[in-house]
Amino acid sequence: MRKLYFIFIVLLIFSCSSSENNEEVVDDSTPSEFTFEYNIHSSLPSEWTTEFYVIMDVLKKLIPSEPKNYFSKLPIYAWNSNTDKPYKDKIGDASGASISGNSEGRYMVLEIPEDEFKFNAMHRYSVIAHEYYHVYQMSLSKNFFDGNIELKWMSEGSAATFESLYIQDKYSFNYFKDAQTSVHSDAINNPSIFEKFNTSGGDKDINYSSSVFMFLVLTKELQKNGMTEAGAFKLAINDFWLKDPTDSNWKVKFEEIFNISVPGFYNILKSYTNDINSVLPSENLKLDSIYKG
Ligand SMILES: [Zn+2]
Repeated sequence: MRKLYFIFIVLLIFSCSSSENNEEVVDDSTPSEFTFEYNIHSSLPSEWTTEFYVIMDVLKKLIPSEPKNYFSKLPIYAWNSNTDKPYKDKIGDASGASISGNSEGRYMVLEIPEDEFKFNAMHRYSVIAHEYYHVYQMSLSKNFFDGNIELKWMSEGSAATFESLYIQDKYSFNYFKDAQTSVHSDAINNPSIFEKFNTSGGDKDINYSSSVFMFLVLTKELQKNGMTEAGAFKLAINDFWLKDPTDSNWKVKFEEIFNISVPGFYNILKSYTNDINSVLPSENLKLDSIYKG
């Protein structure tokens, strides 16, 4: 069984008294482009490394992360799990796949399980799109970057949906049906537990299946209200984060942008069956049509 790991570590490295000075300095030096620094280990098969750069190029063109004064560069550390943590001196014991951080700043961790090469698992590529999406999400929303919003079913639901849309679009493979089918009955009966990681662990959200399901229901409801499919995805996967929500105001922002109240939406979920097949997007939905209209 494959698992996605998302370890989100936020370190507050400056105090209130020094933050003003810090911001001024950083403001002046915000670069015009977001930069990635690649640390791609030789333990990875060359086929994967080649594809990694292809995927990064596609993603950087599709959804360029906007450089911000709080976030304008990101090192990526990738290696094969058959090697023992080759970047230990930079990122310590980090493992799995995540956007994490230490006192030096944020970085992307891509430890690709050896088995995924043996079995040609699509996850070896989809995980790149998933983590890249989080980078983009952090460039859209400072509150998400700062860890001021958890809202797992939207934050992970959108990342895991983006991941599947990417695979469907670029590899003509339905990753929703391959890896995101374990939708728990709580996704329709007790959806608020998916707002937090610690109330929706274990078998409740395997590979974020339940979060993806809830996210896809939202796109279906937006279409019922008259939006195009691409427009519904744009609103949910992109524009919601531009509202820069927090744990304390996201319900207000949700209703503003989607015109559906959160209690109303949770109630609507009860009218669905917890089956990913009942909410799948069109197989010909293209990321370009979502982002470029
Ligand atoms: Zn994630």
